[in-house]
Amino acid sequence: MRFKNLTVLLFVISVLLFITAFYANNIKLEKTASKTNTIQEPDSLSKNSGGQKVYGVVKTEKEWRESLSDEEYYILREKGTERAGTGKYYRNHEEGMYFCAACGNELFGSDEKYDSGSGWPSFYAPKSEKDINVIKDVSFGMERTEIVCSRCGSHLGHVFNDGPKPTGLRYCVNSASLVFKKKTNKSKTTNNKE
Ligand SMILES: [Zn+2]
Repeated sequence: MRFKNLTVLLFVISVLLFITAFYANNIKLEKTASKTNTIQEPDSLSKNSGGQKVYGVVKTEKEWRESLSDEEYYILREKGTERAGTGKYYRNHEEGMYFCAACGNELFGSDEKYDSGSGWPSFYAPKSEKDINVIKDVSFGMERTEIVCSRCGSHLGHVFNDGPKPTGLRYCVNSASLVFKKKTNKSKTTNNKE
């Protein structure tokens, strides 16, 4: 009887040891897993932030694709350029305002628009410099200055130093990056007469 009890006790002890060893091993595995996670996290974070400016309007690529036409997405989000002379606002001489086609930010006015002969809508100044961000662009073997909307970061075009007075600048903008709103007669009141 006594001997049998001892065997049972030994058996129970060995089972307990086995269970302990099993859990200890599992904890070790979990620790390794969490270690790899903490190594990966900063990588993915730095990819997302990348030292780039964070904009007021932030959308995922999927959301941008859904809210823009194919052409608008290509130009605004992939920094594309429409073919010269094909844009809908190149020869637009109506009075009004030009807004960002991606987020509606007010960017340019018809007062600053001029015929540059370049094939793209051209302005010698934006409505307000705070609405435009400039980025050095060295793509296609050229050194240019890219202009993006300061609210959503969408590509608008480039700015060059061959514009007319008073700024000497030419903001060369894709029509597809803009939405034009015609000035209504109401805001065109003749205050000067009185
Ligand atoms: Zn915008």
